[in-house]
Amino acid sequence: MMKKQWYQPLITLGIVIIVLEVLSIVSSVGYFLITDFKLTKKSLAFYQNITKNYQLSLENKIKENELLKQQIAQQEQIVANLNSNLNSLAENVTQIVKLENLDEELLKKYSKVYFLNENYVPKSLTKIDSKYVDNAKDQYILTNVWPFLSALLSQAQKDGVDLKIRWAYRSFLEQYQLKTADVMTFGTGANKFTADQGYSEHQLGTTVDFTTSEFNGNSAKFAQTKAYRWLLENAYKYGFILSYPQNNKYYVFEPWHWRFVGIKLATKLHQENKYFYDLDQREIDQYLISIFDW
Ligand SMILES: [Zn+2]
Repeated sequence: MMKKQWYQPLITLGIVIIVLEVLSIVSSVGYFLITDFKLTKKSLAFYQNITKNYQLSLENKIKENELLKQQIAQQEQIVANLNSNLNSLAENVTQIVKLENLDEELLKKYSKVYFLNENYVPKSLTKIDSKYVDNAKDQYILTNVWPFLSALLSQAQKDGVDLKIRWAYRSFLEQYQLKTADVMTFGTGANKFTADQGYSEHQLGTTVDFTTSEFNGNSAKFAQTKAYRWLLENAYKYGFILSYPQNNKYYVFEPWHWRFVGIKLATKLHQENKYFYDLDQREIDQYLISIFDW
């Protein structure tokens, strides 16, 4: 028989206490772990939420920015439009002022039924340098046309072409006297070479009758001269055109008679092989604004 030890129960009690202690620790740790996990999860959600909010407000800011950019672009467009309107308005005003100072008769087509008023006088006349004139009388040209005519005559001289002015500006009275004299000399046939159309152009002050030493006086023979050939090739560069070319429908051929219409219109006519009197008056009128432009 084994003798029961007196401390046996104590040991058992100690073991129980230890077991309980272990259980307590395990449960504490478990509780702590579970709580901690929950907390972590919670804070994670919290942080996720914050991040999401930030993302949202960032997106909103970007959208606002885009909207502002669009608004700025719109405002800039409005300002640009206003500026361009202002510019075209200023341009129109300049055009109007320019047109107001231009004599609209300068580019009018004259005919046997439409010619200049007998009281018409050019705004300003300039005496043509006498070295270019072959006439006992002084000859005058519209002041604004003189630079063009002078450049033409000087270039002809440089090119070795003898080109002089026989007639330039003629007043209504002078024309009347000339015509009367011609009628007296040549009878009714005079109507063929000093008739109404050419006369109106001379009264304008923009038209000249050229002459050259190769022949004497104004006749169709002028068409056979070097001077005429030079004019056909070069006169348009100085704004001059042949008013009454060969076989025109309106008037007799006048190879010596050249009218200033401005470089732009003269060049167009030269390039398109057209004649002034074939164009519509409305089309011609568009060139008035640039008539004195180089
Ligand atoms: Zn003439």
